Amino acid sequence: MVSAFPDSLLQFLFLVGVPLYLDIHCTLAPFNHSKLLSIIDQIHQILHETFGYNQFRAQQEEIIKHVIEGKDALVIMPTGGGKSMCYQIPAIAKPGLTLVVSPLIALMNDQVTSLHQLGVSAAAIHSNQTSADLNAIYSAIESESLSLLYVSPERLMTDRFIDYLQRQVTLDLIAIDEAHCVSVWGNDFRPEYVALGKLKELFPDVPTVALTATADSATQQDIIKQLRLDDGRLFLSSFERSNITAAAAPGQKRIEQIIAYVKQRKGQAGIVYCLSKKSTETVATKLVAKGYKALAYHAGMPGDKRAIIQRKFQSDEIDIICATIAFGMGIDKPNIRYVIHYNLPKNIEGYYQEIGRAGRDGEDSEALLFYSWADKTTLQSFIDQSTARESFKEIQTVKLERMWQFATSANCRTNTILNYFGEYKNDQCGHCDNCLYPPPRFDGTTYAQMALSAIIRGGQRMGLGLTVDVLRGSFKQEITQLGLDQIKTYGVGREISYLAWSHYITQFINQGLIQLDVSDYSRLKVTPLSKAVLEGNQTIEITQFEKQKIKTPVKKAKPVLNNLDIDKDLLNGLKKWRTQLAKEMNVPPYRIFSNKTLDYLAAEAPTQYQDLLDIDGIGKVKLEQFGDQLIELIESYE
Ligand code: ADP
Ligand code: ZN
Repeated sequence: MVSAFPDSLLQFLFLVGVPLYLDIHCTLAPFNHSKLLSIIDQIHQILHETFGYNQFRAQQEEIIKHVIEGKDALVIMPTGGGKSMCYQIPAIAKPGLTLVVSPLIALMNDQVTSLHQLGVSAAAIHSNQTSADLNAIYSAIESESLSLLYVSPERLMTDRFIDYLQRQVTLDLIAIDEAHCVSVWGNDFRPEYVALGKLKELFPDVPTVALTATADSATQQDIIKQLRLDDGRLFLSSFERSNITAAAAPGQKRIEQIIAYVKQRKGQAGIVYCLSKKSTETVATKLVAKGYKALAYHAGMPGDKRAIIQRKFQSDEIDIICATIAFGMGIDKPNIRYVIHYNLPKNIEGYYQEIGRAGRDGEDSEALLFYSWADKTTLQSFIDQSTARESFKEIQTVKLERMWQFATSANCRTNTILNYFGEYKNDQCGHCDNCLYPPPRFDGTTYAQMALSAIIRGGQRMGLGLTVDVLRGSFKQEITQLGLDQIKTYGVGREISYLAWSHYITQFINQGLIQLDVSDYSRLKVTPLSKAVLEGNQTIEITQFEKQKIKTPVKKAKPVLNNLDIDKDLLNGLKKWRTQLAKEMNVPPYRIFSNKTLDYLAAEAPTQYQDLLDIDGIGKVKLEQFGDQLIELIESYE
């Protein structure tokens, strides 16, 4: 199909909604109804008797029929959609062997175990096997009693193994799982997959079915090309998961937000994905301290420990797993109610695969994504520091940028994802935050002008944090040292909190008014679009910053002053800040805070509202008035 039409026609068919999986080639072939009926009966029988299910899911039946008829296919189906059955049923229906190429031993073992439980003869060949195991597998193959053989691409493509398959085995089908790994355009390119391109030449008469849950349109075309599925058919299932409500929020005070979130969902199963091993542990520890059944999980842990944690989660012994993306491959837990991303994922494919682990039982579930510039910068530096080819790094950078746009977008999130995967759609999904609660907007032109002016007057040499500091008239040493307190915009945005400024500037960056130059220490710079706004010829709409509600203070014993471990630098900083503020407000410094309160602040260095409230001398009113400034100041001394 794909080779038969120029790209533009394919795109046209897509745009006008002609399903690409229409089997254009077979329309001229003679049609054998009785044969077709028997195939359909047979696959329904396997579905009922072997798998115990009543009906096929969308497209499964059509794919299975197509594959059994000996034709190639590329199956793009979201995680949990039921891809495995698309080659397992043909494998059971056919007399010979089906080879399944899979990248991970854990995935292979998982599948083999479930197949054994269903009474299907299957095996996996991998490096962790004894020669006795291997011999048993080879005799099963030779006696034609094995239906499915799972194998890694490296193992499959050895000359010896290929020779063995060609000489001694009746191959009915080759299934290539996680097929996106073959493409550099994909999100998980694996060089060992490239060799699979030779399979068509080596086994020209054996049909190939390639399957993946994550392939944007470029990757789909590339898989077809690499695996030479030119005469195959593309089965593109809808990627929409209507039972998942997706939302995203700026990553400020994430732990507090997560704690408040899980409090509403006590006893429900959820995953919190973190970028670093350390964060998995920090988040898990904080959740445990609040009484939740949570555990950390990451690749740095020994395999047996990971297996135990996974089992506990699977069996509902614990509710929350705080994990790196090492967790989840092959997890088939139907009742996961939410997936939280503590950090921005590196691309939309990964994000969508991870949230796809929620709600496999079809019940309502949620995906909550936190994002921050820091996450993005970290991910960008991973890309920059990797030893991969430059062209590959460029693709990864673009994918990261798309992820960022998704996170910060005020548009329908489902549409953003569907369009990304080549399933064009622009009506509102009704199950994302932006559809459910369209964000109110206001005219942010003045703020944009303030920010742009600060950036220009600061010589386009400041990052986001420093720009906000200048706008808010901060007393940080760095500001005075660089003479930034002398520029005209210094302090013009004092009445806006630090967090609100970050929120607004992020939107200006997303709207192309400000450039964050990752190649120059993430400094903020003007863009060709800045001028019109600065000169008042264009207005800018932005969303409001929503301040977090301050919780009612819980009375705690005040710390004893005598034993305070005071941070001298911080104390000096606090005193300077108080003097300056007192001058501006025209009040004596002690009216702002007493020396004792400053001592407590310098000793405890609180950076959360709740902890500030625990300091002697800070009540709700002072917290409202000075809380953000204090947090910002204290954080700058950490
Ligand atoms: P994928 O590989 O696409 O992520 P799986 O093949 O592992 O998904 O299938 C996900 C789950 O859905 C499995 O538990 C599987 O048994 C189940 N499943 C697949 N097809 C059907 C069906 N037709 N009816 C009911 N359950 C199904
Ligand atoms: Zn939507």
